[in-house]
Amino acid sequence: MIRLTVPVIEEEDLQAVRETLLSGYLVQGPQVAAFEQVVADYVGCQHAIAVSNGTAALHLALVALDINPGDMVIVTAYSWLSTANVIELCGAQPVFVDIQPDTFNLDPACLEQTLQGLMAVSATAKRVKAILPVHTFGQMADMPRILEIAKRYDIPVIEDAACALGAAYDGHQAGTLGALGCFSFHPRKAVTTGEGGMLTTNDPVLARRLQALRNHGLAPDSPYPDFIMPGFNYRMTEFQAALGQAQMAKLNRIIATRHRLAMGYDRLFATSVIQSPIVQKRCTAVYQSYVILVPDSLPYHRETLINQLKEQGVEITIGTWHMPMTTYFRTRYGYTEGAFPVTDHVFARSLTLPLHQHLSERDQIKVHDTLLAALGICNG
Ligand SMILES: *Cc1c(COP(=O)(O)O)cnc(C)c1O
Repeated sequence: MIRLTVPVIEEEDLQAVRETLLSGYLVQGPQVAAFEQVVADYVGCQHAIAVSNGTAALHLALVALDINPGDMVIVTAYSWLSTANVIELCGAQPVFVDIQPDTFNLDPACLEQTLQGLMAVSATAKRVKAILPVHTFGQMADMPRILEIAKRYDIPVIEDAACALGAAYDGHQAGTLGALGCFSFHPRKAVTTGEGGMLTTNDPVLARRLQALRNHGLAPDSPYPDFIMPGFNYRMTEFQAALGQAQMAKLNRIIATRHRLAMGYDRLFATSVIQSPIVQKRCTAVYQSYVILVPDSLPYHRETLINQLKEQGVEITIGTWHMPMTTYFRTRYGYTEGAFPVTDHVFARSLTLPLHQHLSERDQIKVHDTLLAALGICNG
């Protein structure tokens, strides 16, 4: 079976975990602090705060920015469910915005239009508290335009950079452009700690709140235990942080491999009607997933295709989720098909192909040939 993804776990990863387990310190200690420093140095920000997973990072970002019941957060329609769930779990309302057909990222024109509508009415204007774009599949959202719009309305931007560690816009790393960046170290991301997450910020006040919020509300800098707010237990373990440091040491190599493999697929699909990932000019993408788009001219049944490829030894899956059309959000807010036309299209027609460091050129040819045969088309 050609697997969709395989985490890069090597000898030094095992050794780091083993040494830390034997050290006797298992939860949030020197390894976590060291891992935070490595990530802060890598992306180039003042503060990095490790947490138990990427969803916890997003949740804490909203809590730290004081998102309360009744508030609204503008968010892309096309993402993993955590991105919208955390808004809902704060008692706030996600306001979904359609995406761009080429990058699958939040469309700034739709953002502008949505905000114009909300800000023109004082009842909704005062409820809008944050904008939450996602760097989908490791490709940067159009941050210059999103930040310009956000600044005009004075609304903070939280980057869901869960898939985007190492991605950049004009050389600025994902997670350093908004007020807060949120990363995940789930095994489907480029580097992993099993479960794990990280927040990044240049704001010392937000950083201190996040440190307290992840640890039962304990003041991070007090000489005696002082509980300054109600907090969660969203801490990372020491052995995950040790693994994280070993993983960060090879992040650039992992990204380079993913680029090489992505270019390989690009060449294979160049002569077909399949749309390969389109990377914007000023952006560096990290290809957390290699997601293709099947044109409307090729009708297919998605689940049948996925199962058929699996039988032929190729593991593929959908891109990601049309959040407003999932049962919960659809029934709660009454969304119907057509409200997000680009997301409708991309959700129905995108597929994630296998991409991991053990993938050979022959594997990639097999993925290409099997997929095209299953879709009933020939190359060229
Ligand atoms: C993976 C992911 C998350 C959640 O991260 P976890 O560590 O799995 O909680 C959130 N948003 C996006 C876009 C993701 O891809």
